[in-house]
Amino acid sequence: MLERGEVANSWRTERWDSLRLLTPNWQSRLPGLRYEGPDPDGYMTAGEVIAFIEHFAAVTRAPVRTGVNVTSVRPADDGYHVTTTRGELGCRAVVIASGACNQPSVPQFADAVPPSVEQLTPFDYRDPAKLPDGGVLVVGASATGVQLAAELQRSGRPVTLSVGEHVRLPRTYRGRDVLWWMDASGVWGQRYDEVEDLTRARRLPSPQLVGTPERTTLDLNALASMGVELVGRWAAVRDGRALFSGGLRNVFSLADLKMRRLLDAFDEWALTSGRDAGFGPPERFAPTRVPSSARLQLDLGSGEIRSVVWATGFRPDYGWLDVPVVDEKGRLCHDGGVVVDSPGLYALGLPVLRRRKSTFIHGIEPDAREVIDHLAGHLAVRR
Ligand SMILES: Cc1cc2nc3c(=O)[nH]c(=O)nc-3n(C[C@H](O)[C@H](O)[C@H](O)COP(=O)(O)OP(=O)(O)OC[C@H]3O[C@@H](n4cnc5c(N)ncnc54)[C@H](O)[C@@H]3O)c2cc1C
Repeated sequence: MLERGEVANSWRTERWDSLRLLTPNWQSRLPGLRYEGPDPDGYMTAGEVIAFIEHFAAVTRAPVRTGVNVTSVRPADDGYHVTTTRGELGCRAVVIASGACNQPSVPQFADAVPPSVEQLTPFDYRDPAKLPDGGVLVVGASATGVQLAAELQRSGRPVTLSVGEHVRLPRTYRGRDVLWWMDASGVWGQRYDEVEDLTRARRLPSPQLVGTPERTTLDLNALASMGVELVGRWAAVRDGRALFSGGLRNVFSLADLKMRRLLDAFDEWALTSGRDAGFGPPERFAPTRVPSSARLQLDLGSGEIRSVVWATGFRPDYGWLDVPVVDEKGRLCHDGGVVVDSPGLYALGLPVLRRRKSTFIHGIEPDAREVIDHLAGHLAVRR
């Protein structure tokens, strides 16, 4: 196992200070290791995640070589040739487990933002003090965006949040963590070959959730009540002005509808599994409030906005992969982690790789077992 940094590198170097997992402690499990602390319903800090993964590496005696950056993988006669900052390797199979979130995705028009406005990605952001005083435009209302918008608003900076397609969820439902429902009802375990529109499912943004000791819901209504101004999707920059899409009402009602459908599915599961009486009554939540007049543009030169935080998602980096298996959008071509047309090349940890939960810590075990089965078959045939 080659790792360019330390074990749990992404949790050491690519997370902001206040970040906690949005998955509850009891759900953080790796093969043979589960959370056994005093707060199963709490949410780990990044430091606790690092300790958890370090502990896993130690007890499994994972053969990790840290400080080794892979700079190239290319096909060779009997498998692959791997070039690293610490020398060359030959191997018959390669598992790409380099992460789904190596780089923040930032739209091209960021180049047109006036230089007087500071721009940050979640990789640069550590805490509000990193930003200049004054207004902040947070772009993107998925898990990262809603969490940073709330923290920045609390720091006293007026926040405008640009909202595109998003996934709304309550933190708890009928007395349980909503992610408990995702697990128990089987939604999260749904397999990639059963998902109706796999391309879409793989592009779905992360849910609007935050892990706090109070188990608070952090949806757009909560943010608006804190004073965050909501505007539409940021579409372009023209003459120093940020232009936002209209149609917030449609975007909100779609997210509300999808949340309702998901809660309906949970209720249906509770009934059919005979567990309904064990929970509180079904809940339905107020629709997302549409601002009376959402602004459609904002003058970036006026001084109102001093910084922009791009919470517009993340993407993997395959710059080191010298095998033609990445499409024009930068996505690895694979079938459930078996890379297409490149025998012996595998992937793990990508969105809906084999299940809806593939990118979550507790999602890796079943995926890894199946992918490694395939890999073992490949090696056996070659032998
Ligand atoms: C902001 C954020 C919040 C998240 N919150 C949660 C959560 O609440 N719960 C949850 O279950 N999951 C969460 N996740 C998903 C989380 O990242 C995964 O669960 C887990 O960290 C994925 O592990 P991984 O090993 O697949 O990828 P990563 O953690 O990204 O690890 C990939 C490793 O590969 C190394 N690497 C990459 N390229 C190279 C190379 N060329 N050479 C050598 N080494 C290389 C990197 O240094 C890194 O250590 C979150 C992700 C993000 C971005």
